[in-house]
Amino acid sequence: MSAHRCHWPGCSSAVPPALWGCRSHWFRLPKHLRDLVTATYRRGQEITKDPSLEYVAAANAVQEWIRSNCADEIGVPMIHTLSILQPWAWLIVHGYKDIENRDWATSFRGRFLIHAGKRFGREQREDVAQVIQRFPAIKLPEQFALGGIVGDAELLDCTDQHSSPWFVGSFGFVLANARPLPFRAYTGQLGFFRTPDVKS
Ligand SMILES: [Zn+2]
Repeated sequence: MSAHRCHWPGCSSAVPPALWGCRSHWFRLPKHLRDLVTATYRRGQEITKDPSLEYVAAANAVQEWIRSNCADEIGVPMIHTLSILQPWAWLIVHGYKDIENRDWATSFRGRFLIHAGKRFGREQREDVAQVIQRFPAIKLPEQFALGGIVGDAELLDCTDQHSSPWFVGSFGFVLANARPLPFRAYTGQLGFFRTPDVKS
């Protein structure tokens, strides 16, 4: 029988089967996740190979936490990410809005992740109302995902004039191949910032 290894990605430390991982990696996890793993662990599951669904969910939550918080360390590639307020982020990832307007230009080209900003106040509700008025055929959702990665797109060009009905300026980032991705909570930043890439 092969040795039981630490579940931290890339760690090859052999650990007793009943433990999630080696001591140093186990204590890298936040307490609430350690508690979750401990609470859902069923004695003997490593022998019977039938961990509870709760344990599997806890183990997945741990891997997600590691990918989000220790990406550099475990070699997950990082990717350019841009935070965009709703409803614009939704409109972009669903293929409606092909221009992202900014008052700054960029020389970046290529695929990037779209982060939906956390803010949703009066200004955003007014933007929603404006979209409904100008583009009545678009069925907007009742609620928008806020504060996390919601999709990706390719940035083809940065221009100061464009015929798209979405172009406002000063600069328009010309977008293509946008698509929604499963929501992943993440703290946004101004301008392009780097986050762990999404496996697609
Ligand atoms: Zn380890």
